[in-house]
Amino acid sequence: MEFSVDIKPDEDGYTGRECPACEKYFKIKFGTGLPNATECHCPYCNHIGPQSEFWTKQQIEYARSVALHKISGDLLKSMKKMERKPDRNAVLSIGITVKGKPTPIAYYSEKELEEKVTCSNCTLEYTIYGAFGYCPDCGVHNSQQILTANFDLVLKMLDLAVSADENVRAKLVENALEDTVSTFDGFGREHCSGLYQKLSFQNIESAKDKLQRDQGLDISDGLSNDEWNFVSEQFQKRHLLAHKMGIVDEEFARKTGSSQSIVGRKVTITEDNVRSLVNRLIVVAQNIFSNIARS
Ligand SMILES: [Zn+2]
Ligand SMILES: [Zn+2]
Repeated sequence: MEFSVDIKPDEDGYTGRECPACEKYFKIKFGTGLPNATECHCPYCNHIGPQSEFWTKQQIEYARSVALHKISGDLLKSMKKMERKPDRNAVLSIGITVKGKPTPIAYYSEKELEEKVTCSNCTLEYTIYGAFGYCPDCGVHNSQQILTANFDLVLKMLDLAVSADENVRAKLVENALEDTVSTFDGFGREHCSGLYQKLSFQNIESAKDKLQRDQGLDISDGLSNDEWNFVSEQFQKRHLLAHKMGIVDEEFARKTGSSQSIVGRKVTITEDNVRSLVNRLIVVAQNIFSNIARS
């Protein structure tokens, strides 16, 4: 006996998937990506297999229960037909009553996931835990795409800053700098996670030295010395914001070669600083993305 059971997408059009290898959950909108994708990539572990192997345990349970419901319902119906009352005139007569309900259907609902992504390579719409992952249709990793999307947000925040009043404006610019650094750090860590368990990009100079030494990669390739030093200085400013309430310390003055006279003052961060930083980090990110292979 064979049944075909419809697995319907959730109200946003996503269908749940579960990787047969790592058993992690994600969702995709069928038909939004590659035209005839018969294979699916796990966004988390990049296991590749036929779509038919990616049903979730709940979906399989549901399909099985729909089939059992149908079989048990049919069986009950045909048994009902055999019901009869005992014949009072007979010497021995046995009545038959059929009781019971078809087995219940195990309904399920898809889970809500954190990150909605539209693949910039094949346009598949998918949602995953966390932010970083491989596209389930084309397998391209989204680290650079997520970085770009977050940088766009930073630029929008800076646009807002322009029309805000002075206090809010300063705060928005500071936040934009902090977001730029943490976004870049997230991207770098993620992209290099096959090489290093933990490579922090918050200290971008030491990350640069490490990649130069271990991988022979100059992540500042394409930037002049001044441009790189500018990048490094903005990262130092972020450090002050995060750990020193934005007050310039000796270390900052020494590392950035600034005059001692600024020690003890509040660091200045302009909207232009952050915009230039974003532009330069795009170059640095491209160097990392195209020279370090994911494993
Ligand atoms: Zn997996
Ligand atoms: Zn894709």
